[in-house]
Amino acid sequence: MQEADIRPTRVEVDLGALGRNLAAIQRHVGPSRVMPILKANAYGHGIVEVGRHLDGVGVDALGVAYLEEGEALRDAGVRAPILVMSGVVGRQVPRFLAADLAITVPSVSKLAHVQQVASDLGTKARVHLKFDTGMGRLGQSHRTADQLLDATLDAPDVVVEGIYSHFATSDEADRTLTEAQIERFNRILDWFDRRGLPGPTRHLANSGGILGYPEAHLDMVRPGLLLYGAYPSKEAPRTVEVEPALRWLSQVVYFKVVRQGDTVSYGATWEAPEDTRVVTLPVGYGDGYARAHSNRAEVLVGGARKPVVGRVCMDHVMVDLGPDGTAYNGDDVVLLGSDGSDGITVEEVAESAGTVPWEVFTSISPRVPRVYV
Ligand SMILES: *Cc1c(COP(=O)(O)O)cnc(C)c1O
Repeated sequence: MQEADIRPTRVEVDLGALGRNLAAIQRHVGPSRVMPILKANAYGHGIVEVGRHLDGVGVDALGVAYLEEGEALRDAGVRAPILVMSGVVGRQVPRFLAADLAITVPSVSKLAHVQQVASDLGTKARVHLKFDTGMGRLGQSHRTADQLLDATLDAPDVVVEGIYSHFATSDEADRTLTEAQIERFNRILDWFDRRGLPGPTRHLANSGGILGYPEAHLDMVRPGLLLYGAYPSKEAPRTVEVEPALRWLSQVVYFKVVRQGDTVSYGATWEAPEDTRVVTLPVGYGDGYARAHSNRAEVLVGGARKPVVGRVCMDHVMVDLGPDGTAYNGDDVVLLGSDGSDGITVEEVAESAGTVPWEVFTSISPRVPRVYV
């Protein structure tokens, strides 16, 4: 893209930072392997570019949520093994097989269906069995785990490559449920010992599990948020050092003096307490900059923190520079990321919007171009 073609509002992604984060996670969990999670457009960082980059530096496997995301990676030429972690609707199975994507099998009936389709097509299906140990979302209950494991013995065209479960509270201070989940998962795995069968790849840890539960690293870990340089919570121990890879910027498109008592934006919720200078940015909730930031968030203008004033609009945000503030049309403004010695962290943006870092990243809409540095 030529500079003139890029919107004043854009996201800059540092692919090198993602590679360094992956290496830091790998050092921490080794000899366990790492499956970076690229769902939801690689947490807003761009699934194709991130997938190609990680495939290029060498990755054990990649994880996505949906079939279409796996297909997008294959269409982009990514060769690494890919696991699709969400459920599979029956009619989709042939597309999984055509794109060589590993299927998540969360029940006996899904296993039977995958076996049938693979057999009909004269091929083998690669699957990871999914067990519910306490997340309560997707997976064969840990209480009836043997039923699914036994059923795999009658599914000759299904190749069980992996077995996994997912944590519900691994980033919280209370360790009770996570420890119970680890215990339940280990009991499920006893099935292989009892039958003297080699176990498939075992994986359990998300970012919180990687940071706080070394006993859950097993054969492979599944980092999402941590790969993108953010921490899941204040409680999670920072046992791996990572750096943010994404900056969200906009530029000043309008500058004005606002008189004391004048109001700004819809609802007239902000009134200038004194004569002051206000700039307008071409970014809004239509780009994923949350309306909840109205009269709450701060941005960096010339490296200094300035408040968002008035309601965030669909396409615009207003920022108060103060009575002596200056900024010129075209000046960069940082919504998220560092600028000089200061920085707006994704954790801070999440708090301002009353949400979590995962939602901040994945809310940045496709309208915002991604630029790779
Ligand atoms: C999203 C997801 C992950 C990654 O979670 P983070 O908390 O972002 O590290 C891992 N495993 C599964 C099954 C997921 O859905």
